[in-house]
Amino acid sequence: MEHLPVGLLAHLFELLAARDVLQLSLTCRSLSPSEPAVQLALERLITQRFGDVAGFLRADDALWPRSLVVLRGVEMLRMKEVLARSAVRSFEDAADCRPSCMVVSRAWLVAWKKRCQGFEQYLLQFRMTKKKLLQRERSTKRKSRKQRNASETLAIERLRIEATSGGAATAKAALSEAGAMIVCAHGNLLPASQCVSRAKRAIVTNDTYWDLAVYAPELCGFPLRSCCDCGTCVLEQEARELEAEEKKKARFDGEIAGSGALLELLQRKNGYPKGLFSPTEGGAAVSRRQQQQLAPHLSINGHSKYATYFLVPKKWLNKWRKFVRSQGDDVPGPVLNAELVCLSHRRTIVPPYISMFLSGYSLEQSLKAMQALSSTPSRQYEIVTFGEWEALYDRYCAEFAVGFDVINGSYHWKTQECQICNYGIGGGSPSDKPNSHR
Ligand SMILES: [Zn+2]
Ligand SMILES: [Zn+2]
Ligand SMILES: [Zn+2]
Repeated sequence: MEHLPVGLLAHLFELLAARDVLQLSLTCRSLSPSEPAVQLALERLITQRFGDVAGFLRADDALWPRSLVVLRGVEMLRMKEVLARSAVRSFEDAADCRPSCMVVSRAWLVAWKKRCQGFEQYLLQFRMTKKKLLQRERSTKRKSRKQRNASETLAIERLRIEATSGGAATAKAALSEAGAMIVCAHGNLLPASQCVSRAKRAIVTNDTYWDLAVYAPELCGFPLRSCCDCGTCVLEQEARELEAEEKKKARFDGEIAGSGALLELLQRKNGYPKGLFSPTEGGAAVSRRQQQQLAPHLSINGHSKYATYFLVPKKWLNKWRKFVRSQGDDVPGPVLNAELVCLSHRRTIVPPYISMFLSGYSLEQSLKAMQALSSTPSRQYEIVTFGEWEALYDRYCAEFAVGFDVINGSYHWKTQECQICNYGIGGGSPSDKPNSHR
């Protein structure tokens, strides 16, 4: 083949894209791009077949290299011209497109544009040659030209390095990946529901597609007429969703286990049970400061009827709620609340904002007041009912059970508040705690 006359070699090259010429040139040393015959064939190919898009590369101009990089560059210019005269439509317009149109990956168009810019920049130096030569002769602005030349040289050098090293392979791989983004693992059209934004579809005409595909074999296309989502993928997706749904249900059923108490706790948003305070009747005569009153739980017929509540760290409950409602592996673990107990005196350390809250201030007021007093924000707790605490304790255990009873409208910590830890020095008798009675 290497003994073909130049004319025939040029003819042969005309049937090939740059990547094929590259393959061919690797087969025999006498076909290497540095051989005069190959150079001449490349020159003919570039100036004749691509004359309309690369007229600035003239046969009588010896300055531009007769190289495969230049050939690839003019191929990019050809594709640019093809895209410029044809409209790319979005998949949403499919109904208005002819059935012969092709569905392609939008990501490829974006990636290709970027790649094309690189080649354009490279070819620019040859486009400007004549102008530059003239400038060189008469220009007085030597400095700026020097700077420009320097930046051009850099760009060229970058492209040359890229073309001869891993850079080109990376860019090629990126294009291939982008071109196949609408293709599923089965080689069919990836269902629209699985197309992330980068894998969106675009529509080009059939002619445009084949004009591009000559130079971009990585561009996958599906004719609009027979274009439907991969059936296997759709079924697989449905199976996955069903499985996820079942897993979620199994998690929910396993954790809640039919407990009405836990279900209520799961759905609670305000941080304390409804029965904790007396219902306010029509917003009547309640002072603005003391808005809520603990439900009285009066003794009836001599039987003391009281209610018990416990404190659970808000953080733990949030984790628990998330765990119950998801498939995630972030198990809440036991309720850790040791900070509510002073180990030296074995008594309860009540967060001050909880005392305020139980005395009738709103949660916001209580938290705000404590914020003003302390630089570190208080650890927050939710108040849960006895039933809820039992259910939680059964399933997850807890370090300490810290709770209070409400009897006749006032609250009593089950384990006394620690005077020493709360107030520095114990004042008064432990049975007469200032905070436990209103
Ligand atoms: Zn598929
Ligand atoms: Zn008491
Ligand atoms: Zn203490």
